[in-house]
Amino acid sequence: MGKALIIGAGGVASVAVHKCVQNSEVFEEICIASRTKSKCDELKAKLDGGKTKITTAQVDADNVDELIALINEVKPDIVMNLALPYQDLTIMDACLATKTNYMDTANYEPEDTAKFEYSWQWDYKERFEKAGITALLGSGFDPGVTGVFSAYALKHYFDEIEYIDILDCNGGDHGYPFATNFNPEINIREVSANGRYWENGEWIETKPMEIKRVYDFKEVGEKDMYLLYHEELESLAKNIPGLKRIRFFMTFGQSYLTHLKALENVGMTSIEPIEYEGKQIIPLQFLKAVLPDPASLGPRTVGKTNIGCIFKGKKDGQDKTYYVYNICDHQECFKEVGSQAISYTTGVPAMIGAAMVMTGKWNKPGVYNVEEFNPDPFMEELNKWGLPWVEDFNPVLVDELPEEAKESELVR
Ligand code: NDP
Repeated sequence: MGKALIIGAGGVASVAVHKCVQNSEVFEEICIASRTKSKCDELKAKLDGGKTKITTAQVDADNVDELIALINEVKPDIVMNLALPYQDLTIMDACLATKTNYMDTANYEPEDTAKFEYSWQWDYKERFEKAGITALLGSGFDPGVTGVFSAYALKHYFDEIEYIDILDCNGGDHGYPFATNFNPEINIREVSANGRYWENGEWIETKPMEIKRVYDFKEVGEKDMYLLYHEELESLAKNIPGLKRIRFFMTFGQSYLTHLKALENVGMTSIEPIEYEGKQIIPLQFLKAVLPDPASLGPRTVGKTNIGCIFKGKKDGQDKTYYVYNICDHQECFKEVGSQAISYTTGVPAMIGAAMVMTGKWNKPGVYNVEEFNPDPFMEELNKWGLPWVEDFNPVLVDELPEEAKESELVR
């Protein structure tokens, strides 16, 4: 069918590459390009010999000219941006210059401020339309599958969705007192920021981890979960008509929160540069360097993830609730692709999103979030490529749970 250029060779990219190679009918050829070429070569060495032809390249994705040169050389049907959110705009610029389709799994972030907003990327809409190319934003799990779940719920079960709660539970245990499951810098920025949710057309801000509930997750059990801001809230609030409220909850263990609080208190999570021995360093980037590499957690992580969305709304004038979720087993993922479930649950939808664009199922010039496309083919592919989903038409709603202590460890 076609050729993809994959940028990045970290945890998520590694899973996506495994999955592209499994889906060789669509991905006849892939080029893996990243800052550190040896990581791309390692992946190639592991997976070479199948039907998908694999090449590798070195690229600095902060440099538009380098990207353009690489895209012109490889001539891919799509660029899969699996590097970091800082590279989104340079890669989009290079795609525009070469008229190549684009996809990613996380919204653009400036290095110096944690914003988590789509505005910069949505600004490219007209230019992508004019160039006749598609940009698919946020095709991981959350954002990604959670948007597809929302579009699917709206298409098949509701006339109107009024409430969405996204519940992201990681019941995995890696045995370290503190480590992050994906890029530590991005992860810590996300959880140490203020919480926010959308209600009646307005954003309501909370302190970090101010709102806590205990939820009993299928196949995982009871977990503490906290309200966080998460980027798909912005696009879903815009794209799901009639929505009254959307919130996002993520589970955290006590050890993680205690360590994070201590690191915050001593300034290690700051993104403000400081001078150290005559050199400017960013404390959070230094912290990343001393923490375990998320890719190394695979062999030692046991347990399951359970991520999904609970919807409440109306169908034929009646109240209706619907919960759709996926359960993923860390060890099963490791056996299959050598990564834990967090990378797996992101890498699989990244491959599927790219395949949707390459096969023409999700091909529409402009810049779009996943929920703006027909969810059905994506939902089918989730079942096929390792992320089967489960439906529950009588779920326990978050609003039915007792409120937990307001003062969490992270409220300063
Ligand atoms: P990693 O840190 O494991 O990997 C990032 C990769 O990008 C590395 O290979 C790194 O290269 C490469 N890279 C970084 N900067 C550049 C650059 N300037 N030029 C070229 N390559 C570069 O991150 P993850 O795999 O965990 O995460 C990848 C993306 O997925 C992130 O954007 C993250 O936010 C997103 N994500 C999305 C989720 C979702 O559900 N939607 C969930 C989890 C993650 P090097 O090896 O040299 O460092």
